[in-house]
Amino acid sequence: MASTPPSAPSSRVPPTVAPSATLDCAGLPEDGLHGGAFAVSRFNFRVPVPPATVLYNSKTGAVLRLSGADAPELADILTSGVVQFGTSAIPQLPIAQLLSGEFLVPAGTDEIHDVRTCFSTARRETPLVVTITTTMKCNLNCYYCYEPRSNDTVHPSRIPDIEEWIRLRLQTRKHRCLHVDWYGGEPMLNLQFLEAASEAIQRICYGEGVQYSASIISNGTVWPDNPGEFVKRNRIREVQISFDGLRENHVQRRRLRRNHELGGGANAFDCAVRLVDQLLDFTRVDIRLNLDCHNKRDLMPFIDFARNRGWFTRKFPGVLQVARLTSYSERSAPMRFSELSISEYEELRDRLRDRKFSDVPIEESEVPDHFPFPRTFVCAALARDSVVFGADCHLYRCGLQVGFRDRAVGYLDNSGWTPHFTDSHWWDTFDPTSIPRCASCSFLPICFGGCPLKHLRNDTSGIDDQCKYWRRNLPRLITSRFGLMPPNDFVYTESDQFR
Ligand code: SF4
Ligand code: SF4
Repeated sequence: MASTPPSAPSSRVPPTVAPSATLDCAGLPEDGLHGGAFAVSRFNFRVPVPPATVLYNSKTGAVLRLSGADAPELADILTSGVVQFGTSAIPQLPIAQLLSGEFLVPAGTDEIHDVRTCFSTARRETPLVVTITTTMKCNLNCYYCYEPRSNDTVHPSRIPDIEEWIRLRLQTRKHRCLHVDWYGGEPMLNLQFLEAASEAIQRICYGEGVQYSASIISNGTVWPDNPGEFVKRNRIREVQISFDGLRENHVQRRRLRRNHELGGGANAFDCAVRLVDQLLDFTRVDIRLNLDCHNKRDLMPFIDFARNRGWFTRKFPGVLQVARLTSYSERSAPMRFSELSISEYEELRDRLRDRKFSDVPIEESEVPDHFPFPRTFVCAALARDSVVFGADCHLYRCGLQVGFRDRAVGYLDNSGWTPHFTDSHWWDTFDPTSIPRCASCSFLPICFGGCPLKHLRNDTSGIDDQCKYWRRNLPRLITSRFGLMPPNDFVYTESDQFR
């Protein structure tokens, strides 16, 4: 399987900046704000929540609640672009708070330089993630699968090469933790390799004093009889099982491939459901629900189904991830006709924010911490040393590229990297602050340009979708800090985004 993109385990790093304060604005000076010592940050945003106004800075994550008659005017000034003024012009304003949240910055501050520094620190410090594709084989035949069909499977004899590669990185770069993501095809179709490689890598980490954890993305149909023991033995702290709706849709879209069968004539849906039932006593399960135009009606019934099975109240409550099926490669291009538009998808996600779903843990991949903190991490494709081992023994930066050898960045052999691949330099030097559109965008510190693969593919519509996400959702995310909601239909415009 792996017909859906891999999550980036590195995206779960806790935030580091969380200033918050409330503020009463006593009034503005009659002569306005002008002078020379300070400038308004271009990363300021405001949300009217009458009678107050909430101010937010995307570079620091600071939020302020302004109240008082002059609050709207002050908020307008603070979000109107780069205006310079001296402190003597605004004696009644709480300058210290505006400075500490960096709503005001010393005149001449190069804010893009600050974001560039954060981005390169994030590339360096995002924990090491090694994604291992055990096989490209899959027993299911999902219509939207983007992967090239192949039977490539890693033989256990390659384990010493993988060990060597990992040991070298741990020793030379002094990484303190390692996360392994088991990936495929359906990774469990090469169980013998997975178990042996897992044991070998855990042994290395133990020897080097490095913290180890793992996750797996699976279709949930071919697991060993005792999944609890399996996840414990392999230190798997997160399992992603994806669904294409309720039984009828799921089974219709995930037909068994020829020469494959499931024990006792079971179907893919019942197998996956039984597995989730079993796993929730032992580990976190991300229940990924893939939606397009034809199965979107299953969303609410699927949640009821999961609730009735008690998936959200178990020892490890299941986490729902609602995903929009999109075409990731030429192979899956036909599914463009059944994709949900971004607004249809956002409407579905809006419905889930209703209080009646407060018992359902729902993950919003763009904001794993539920608040738009400035990013301190990058996806696994950008993190220093992180790599995807393909089942063809090529090395890739992103799981969505596995099997497309022209996109590989190296080859697994005893010496590790072989640095003569076309895309290597692009990945090494990717920097959203040097992309004109992102460099002029005020969402940049919380977005870092979104998915870098979209930039590599020049996928302008995918990049537009990312921009739309922030324009539509940022007001809600900001005001959530005070338990408030923005006015209906309040969204940011392109002029708010590009300043
Ligand atoms: S919102 Fe769009 S323009 Fe802004 S940083 Fe993200 S991808 Fe770039
Ligand atoms: S490049 Fe895009 S798809 Fe690949 S890991 Fe990063 S965010 Fe995910």
